[in-house]
Amino acid sequence: MLVKSSATIHLKLPRASTSVLVKNLYLSCDPYFRRRMNKPQGRYVIPSLLVRNMFPVNLDILNSIIWLLFSMLQPIAGVGVAKVVDAGHSYFKKGDLVWGFTGWEEYTISAPRTLFKIQHTDVPLSYYTGTLGMPGMTAYYGFYEICAPKKGEYVFVSAASGAVSQLVGQFAKLTGCYVVGTAGTNEKVELLKNKCGFDEAFNYKEEQDLDAALKRYFPPGIDIYFENVGGKMLEAVLLNMRSNGRISACGMISQYNLYREEGVRNLSCIIAKQLLVKGFIVSNHFNLYPKYMEMVIPLIKEGKICYIEDIVEGLESEPAALVGLFSGKNVGKQVVVVAHE
Ligand code: NDP
Repeated sequence: MLVKSSATIHLKLPRASTSVLVKNLYLSCDPYFRRRMNKPQGRYVIPSLLVRNMFPVNLDILNSIIWLLFSMLQPIAGVGVAKVVDAGHSYFKKGDLVWGFTGWEEYTISAPRTLFKIQHTDVPLSYYTGTLGMPGMTAYYGFYEICAPKKGEYVFVSAASGAVSQLVGQFAKLTGCYVVGTAGTNEKVELLKNKCGFDEAFNYKEEQDLDAALKRYFPPGIDIYFENVGGKMLEAVLLNMRSNGRISACGMISQYNLYREEGVRNLSCIIAKQLLVKGFIVSNHFNLYPKYMEMVIPLIKEGKICYIEDIVEGLESEPAALVGLFSGKNVGKQVVVVAHE
């Protein structure tokens, strides 16, 4: 409800509302937006904030029907950092800083259960779209919970300079692993080695033969692969995995823009090498968020991990920023500033 009083405009919720009205400050720009433009396959993320708030579980049939209805009628839902303007729920009050499900708009009415109150404000607030938010949890769950890493293991990370994997590489180093990452430009390769502490990194676009490149960087083979890319990269990795290796299937960005996904060869390596390949959807694992925060907050404050962000100004920049993710235009976590408090 918009209430006008002389010179100022006050935004308020209807009196009976139990929702939270927030002003968006930072919006996250993520590859999964692209996947949501396709008709859903199985239980993935539904695009509408409204429907997401109404139905806590992604039901497959419901998903297909509503995808047709609301994808054109609703602002794009995503994760952001925001300030509470009005709250119909006692846990939140005006002025609270929160992160969670908001939308590509200046103000959003959110369900309280989709928001986290921000407790640590002595770190950059934009980090709650990245290392302290969904991508951070993705790195944490996908690396520690799925891969169960051990000191001395050989870890390979694709799309390594992105929001998730720059952290995976740093978590792997903190665990005492040997880490190699790939990226699509030489500038990103240098950042991975010099800023994020990767042991090695290479530009996959300059390699004619990915299998040969992996053999060069991993003569003994790979124990852990953190998968973000899929396609030809996955084919080459399968040939280079060691026995009992683990693959955390986080994303396959090379496939998201294809009408039909490419086939992947070398899958029989999964049997011969007794590999564990496990996919996951991070939103199903937020029960571990407090444990993750306990680990990561001191690491950030003590400067033991760094986080590279690519920040652009203005809501109108969001579509171009999203398109840029698929050509590697972003250097680090892509963030869009909507308002400066
Ligand atoms: P970012 O948006 O930060 O970066 C994406 C990067 O991927 C680009 O910068 C680009 O870097 C690289 N890339 C784009 N297209 C290709 C391609 N065709 N082949 C190889 N690399 C490509 O990524 P995030 O860290 O946010 O996400 C990484 C992956 O994790 C994505 O696949 C995403 O879908 C997935 N994800 C999964 C989650 C889950 O719950 N399972 C949660 C969050 C993310 P470059 O210059 O190196 O090419």
